[in-house]
Parts: sequence; structure tokens; C-alpha cells
Amino acid sequence: MSDKKIPPPPALPPSFEIKDNFCLFHKGVIKGEIYSCPTCKTKYCLECAKKARLEARLCIKCKQLVIP
Ligand SMILES: [Zn+2]
Ligand SMILES: [Zn+2]
Repeated sequence: MSDKKIPPPPALPPSFEIKDNFCLFHKGVIKGEIYSCPTCKTKYCLECAKKARLEARLCIKCKQLVIP
């Protein structure tokens, strides 16, 4: 009897969905205080927003200046 082993279906990578509390600057869950972009309402960590401002980085979504 040949009992062929069926390999398990390849696990699909978790879809990259942007959650409500996902910070696009450090690409992780927002910790601590939340900064939300006044233009597009995208949420970031307040800490990341402060850093972004120092580094003159723009909002990932709308490319506006981050002004925490
Ligand atoms: Zn924005
Ligand atoms: Zn962050």
C-alpha cells in the first residue's frame, strides 16, 4: 500500500494589512502615544513622529511634513 503523503499547502504569508495602530515609520505596532497626521490621519508613534520631524522625513502616505 502506498500511502502518498500529501504535503501541506504552502502557508500563505500574512497579508500586509495596515492596522489602525500600525506605525509606518518603524513598521510595527504603535507604542505609547499616538500621533496622527493632520492631513491623512495616518497614525504613527509620537516618538517616531518626533524623530521624523528632526530627520525631515515626510508622512509615508501623503508626503506632508510631520509636525508632532
Ligand atoms: Zn499624512
Ligand atoms: Zn513608530
